[in-house]
Amino acid sequence: MSCRAMALSFTAPHFAASLQQQQQPASNRLFTQLKLSANPNPILRNLSVSSKPCVCSLATAAPTVAEKESSQASQVEVSSSPSCANAKGNGLSYHIITMGCQMNVADSERMAGQLEAQGYQLAPTPDDCSLLILNTCSIRDRAEQKVYGALGRNKIRKYEDPNFRIVVSGCVAQQEGNTLLRRVPEVDLVMGPQHVGRLTELLEQVELGSQVCALEPFYIEEDITRPRRDSTVTAWVNIIYGCNEGCTYCVVPGTRGKEQSRLPDAIRNEMLALGEAGYKEVTLLGQNIDAYGRDLGLLDNENFSKQRWTLADLLLYVHDVPGIERIRFVTSHPKYFTEKLIKTCKELPKVCEYFNIPFQSGDNEILKEMKRGYTREKYLNMIQMIRHYMPDASITADAIVGFPGESEEQFCNTLSLMEDVKFDAVNTAAYSPRPRTPAAVWENQVADLVKEDRLHRINRLVTEHALERSQRYLGRVEKILVEAKNPRPGKEDQVRGRTGGNKVTFFKGAAELIGSLVNVKITDATSASLRGELVS
Ligand code: SF4
Repeated sequence: MSCRAMALSFTAPHFAASLQQQQQPASNRLFTQLKLSANPNPILRNLSVSSKPCVCSLATAAPTVAEKESSQASQVEVSSSPSCANAKGNGLSYHIITMGCQMNVADSERMAGQLEAQGYQLAPTPDDCSLLILNTCSIRDRAEQKVYGALGRNKIRKYEDPNFRIVVSGCVAQQEGNTLLRRVPEVDLVMGPQHVGRLTELLEQVELGSQVCALEPFYIEEDITRPRRDSTVTAWVNIIYGCNEGCTYCVVPGTRGKEQSRLPDAIRNEMLALGEAGYKEVTLLGQNIDAYGRDLGLLDNENFSKQRWTLADLLLYVHDVPGIERIRFVTSHPKYFTEKLIKTCKELPKVCEYFNIPFQSGDNEILKEMKRGYTREKYLNMIQMIRHYMPDASITADAIVGFPGESEEQFCNTLSLMEDVKFDAVNTAAYSPRPRTPAAVWENQVADLVKEDRLHRINRLVTEHALERSQRYLGRVEKILVEAKNPRPGKEDQVRGRTGGNKVTFFKGAAELIGSLVNVKITDATSASLRGELVS
């Protein structure tokens, strides 16, 4: 027995694995059982049984911003903002540390919404909360190490505060599962991304004394949770979960499961509520958003006939939602990006001239090894098509360097594709072998030093192109949706917003402008942002 185990006497009952069956409405298309493996945790279960009050009230969205604008491969940590003055007012407080992509940011908002509906309040820091959630990302190895580092720092608190709970959600949770519980037995709940909407229910299991591991494939029911959105101006709306692709470097299909599109009416209803609540911009979210609808089959439409839905159809369907002035969507897969989609975007004035379409590599051999399902030529044709219909559109992407077997020449093909396109921004990453992905065990791994060098070179080109693309705005008057005050010290007289092309723009203006679409003359451009002057 470890010292820790000896220090804590075990009093909780031993829980056998249980199978909890969800009572789902008949209208659900798919029924999946959720398996909760309620592990007996001899170290901690004596600490976990508590009779906390359950305060059922509606969550209210707090007006703070912790928004992350990056694609799925980026790794900036986003923490919930410290907006609550009395985080420990009723003894229930939470803090969420979010790593990774927009999907995780949206999932964190959904979890925060559920917790606030239960009376939890947002704690300013991880040290102040009674419930800590690490919403994790496993795209890169470093992110995984970060999770274990954070657990190492926080698990000690279990011994000082018997009511302190630790939850690990997101892709590392799905990937590591019971291994994570064995490695860090102080964790109370490990839940995969498909279970985000069931957080409070799973926490109830924890309070009964179980150590819970929710990882089974699960049909994401129409989301009755109400997110605690971090912005009052812009909102994420999930339209499709999961991924059916099998890129050889990626953990997502294993962690987020198969594609599940939400029904068009559910999406429209969520957007109607957002419009009524004063939100001005919606970003539709999906791992492969342009694959939307292919799992829905034929649905009845208002003309009483059957319809197959695509992203283009959905954009047409939600475009007239009152109050919503801008619509974006991320992330597109080159395989599913159609002429119909781009023509629809051109025709609909609320759809922003902004596309995020990862290319990953500019070399056909590498693309084949990655199992991306398109060629360099196909990708470039698609870009040409976008520029034909929407010449000023901003195009961003993701790229990986140092994929197994990538030669210098193949890497140069990636750079030459970038020269051909001139992206507004590219999220770059050095290839990092991920557990249980095919490419991780290939023998032709590229040396770290070579990867570092390539990353450095590609980033130089990204910045060069981004600056060039930013400079096209100089002297123009752009419509800017104002999102927040400039958070930088000394810049309190400025506000921050974005162009339709998603370029962050700063200008002098009062906080009252937040939520408005205003005209700004662009006077200065860097690779990352624009500056300008408000014009009447
Ligand atoms: S398309 Fe490929 S890279 Fe993107 S989430 Fe799916 S498997 Fe991963």
